[in-house]
Amino acid sequence: MSKLSLDRILQSQGYGTRKFCRTLIDDGEVTINGVVHDNYKETIETDGLVFHLFDEDVVYREHVYIALHKPANFECSRKPSHHPGVLTLLAEELTWRDVQPVGRLDHDTTGMLLMSDDGAFIHAQSSPKRHVPKIYQATTAEPVTDELIAQMLAGVQLHDEPAPLAAQTCVKRGEYQLEIVLEQGKYHQVKRMLAAAGNHCAALHRSAIGKLELAALDLNEGEWCYLTAEQLDLLT
Ligand code: URA
Repeated sequence: MSKLSLDRILQSQGYGTRKFCRTLIDDGEVTINGVVHDNYKETIETDGLVFHLFDEDVVYREHVYIALHKPANFECSRKPSHHPGVLTLLAEELTWRDVQPVGRLDHDTTGMLLMSDDGAFIHAQSSPKRHVPKIYQATTAEPVTDELIAQMLAGVQLHDEPAPLAAQTCVKRGEYQLEIVLEQGKYHQVKRMLAAAGNHCAALHRSAIGKLELAALDLNEGEWCYLTAEQLDLLT
């Protein structure tokens, strides 16, 4: 539970300077449950707050937690060099927040990408100590063999890693399809592991993080949604 004055609430949701927010409130532009609130000093409980402004119901959010269905040919970098950045796929109303991707997917990888402006969340999710499983669907250039699966499970040595890296699980889903679960998030990990095991990754899709499945979010490529508290709980 936390209370904030109405002008701070508006400012914290990106409606401009405190002075401008006070003007909006003075002008009677803000309603809550159909009642005009025109005293900018009024303190209001922010938990579960929905206010109405500019013909819109606005859910108060201290931070945003987002899942994006990343399309191919978008870069996760904040300063993309060859393709547009994933941040350009978010709504205009989010541009004032310092939203960042949680970890990275390669420009040609599709699938679930988490994004947030909560530094503690980003840090916790990215921490190697958390061992959050990431589930990938890989299309291979060569047929999937038992030997490939055995190598992925036993661990393959990448040249810049001190010890072999192993998939947590690795299951054949088709002649050229593998489902790979990784707990680490090393640079190009799936592609490099497949190459080190003698195959080649032709396409890669992240279908889930922890128990949160992209399919359950019903997002087309390029679409995103805010995650609920229940969905955030599945990221373990
Ligand atoms: N592993 C890769 O090789 N690429 C990704 O984008 C994610 C995991």
